[in-house]
Amino acid sequence: MAKKSNPFPLQKISKLGFYLFLILFYSNCFLRPSGNLTNYDSYFPHSSGTSSIPKGKVRATFLGTSSILLDDGETQILTDGFFSRPSLWKTAFSKIESDPLTVLSVIERAKINRLKAIFVCHSHYDHVMDAPFVAKQTKAKLYGSSSTLNVGTGAGLNQDQMQKFILGKPISIGKFTVTVLESKHTPPFHILGKTNATDPNHPNIETPLIQPVKAMEFIEGGTFDFFIQHGKNRILIKSSTNFVKGALDNFNADVLFLGIAQISLQPVSFQDEYYKQTIEILKPKLIIPIHWDNFFKPLSEPLEPNLKLGDDFDANMKSILKRSEGQKLEIKLLQGFETIDLF
Ligand SMILES: [Zn+2]
Repeated sequence: MAKKSNPFPLQKISKLGFYLFLILFYSNCFLRPSGNLTNYDSYFPHSSGTSSIPKGKVRATFLGTSSILLDDGETQILTDGFFSRPSLWKTAFSKIESDPLTVLSVIERAKINRLKAIFVCHSHYDHVMDAPFVAKQTKAKLYGSSSTLNVGTGAGLNQDQMQKFILGKPISIGKFTVTVLESKHTPPFHILGKTNATDPNHPNIETPLIQPVKAMEFIEGGTFDFFIQHGKNRILIKSSTNFVKGALDNFNADVLFLGIAQISLQPVSFQDEYYKQTIEILKPKLIIPIHWDNFFKPLSEPLEPNLKLGDDFDANMKSILKRSEGQKLEIKLLQGFETIDLF
C-alpha cells in the first residue's frame, strides 16, 4: 500500500519555524532604533517656531535626514526635501515614487511658502526623490548634479527651472549666498551580501528617471556640501559622513549641520580625520547633527534614530560628543519640524 503523504511534514514545519525564528531574531535585533532619544532630551531646543523671524536672523527647520529649510523671513532655501519616506518593506521590495499628499502636507506644515531654491546633496532616493515635486509645487529652482537634473527631467520639470551645480561659484538667492563644494559619500556598507556602493561603470543617472523606480535606480551621482552665507553669518551643510581632504580649508562656519550617519562604524582614524576636516577647520559655535533618523518612518510621526540594521545612533552621538568635549561649541539635535534661530 502506498504511503499517504503528510501535508505538514516535520521537516517542512521545522524549516518554516527556522525562517520564522530568523525573521523574529533579525526584527528584534536590527529593526529597532539604534538609540533612545529620551537620553538626549537636553540637546533638543524644544522650540515651536511659531513667532515671526526676527529681522536679520535665519531660522532653520529640520525636516528629517538632510532636509533643512532655511528662512530669513523673506526668502526660503531648502536642502534635499525628501518627505515621502516610503517604508522599509516598500523600499526593499517594490518601486518607489514621490507621494504627492505626503509632500504637500509637509509643505503646508513647514510653511514652505516663499521657497526660491532647492539644493540636492546627492541623488540617492533619500535625498532627491521628492525634490522635483517640491520644485513644481513651489516654483523654486532645483540645483543639483547632472544625475539630480535627470530626476527632475524625469518628473517633468522644465529645464529653465533647473540649474546644474558649478562647484565653487557663489549663487545669490535673496540675502543668501550658496556655494556648492565637492564632497564624498559616506563609505559604502554591506548588508546581507548587498552594498550601496556606486558601480564605477555607472556613477551617474544618465537618462531622465521616471518614477516609480526601484530605489537602486537613484544613483549617487557625486556628493556635495553647501556653504551658505547670510550677512556676516556662515553655515555649512554636510549631509554625508565623508570629506574631500582640504576642501573646506578656506572656510569658517558659525553653524555646522553635520551628517553623522554611520560615523561610529568607521575606523577611529577615519573618525579623527572627519572631525579634523570639519569641526577643526570650520570652527563652528553650533553643530547640529543630521541624517540620524530612521527615514523609513513618516515625518508626521516623531523622528526615531536610524535602525540597528545599518547604524548605531548612540555610538555616533558618543563619538561626536567626545570630540567636541572641552571646546567652545554647542551641539543641538532637532526633532522633525523643529526650528532653531541660528544667529
Ligand atoms: Zn546616499
